[in-house]
Amino acid sequence: MPKVVSRSAVSSSTDAQPTASSTAALRVYYCICSEFILVIDKSLASLPRRKTDGAIVIRSQDGEAGKARVFKLNAVFKEPVLVERPGGHERQYRLHCPRCNLPVGYQTTPPPMKSGPYTYVLKGAVSQVQGQLPSDAFEDENFVRVS
Ligand SMILES: [Zn+2]
Repeated sequence: MPKVVSRSAVSSSTDAQPTASSTAALRVYYCICSEFILVIDKSLASLPRRKTDGAIVIRSQDGEAGKARVFKLNAVFKEPVLVERPGGHERQYRLHCPRCNLPVGYQTTPPPMKSGPYTYVLKGAVSQVQGQLPSDAFEDENFVRVS
């Protein structure tokens, strides 16, 4: 009697490995005053930057171009400001550190958080190391420059 070996029994294709995205560690970012500001599923260094001011762009709503990032921003809204842009003005609802009041980001839609497609983190505003000044904190000071 020939021994029948089932090929399907040796297949391991169904033992799917966890994907890289599902196991990605959350990144935590702090204000320079060491207050916790942001936890996000992707490194800020790998996210796109705005051409206008170099701010880091975090997708906060699902859209045609991609899925929203998973993140939580620990910041408080202040009065909106108007920023000069080529061809007009942009209203920014600034987000400030709840401890030291330093601006850490903004969105262009009124509160609550994530009410628009994107949330922006100011260049050099947060660091992955608690209490350490980001290397690009003073790279340029012309964020609200009026030309
Ligand atoms: Zn702070």
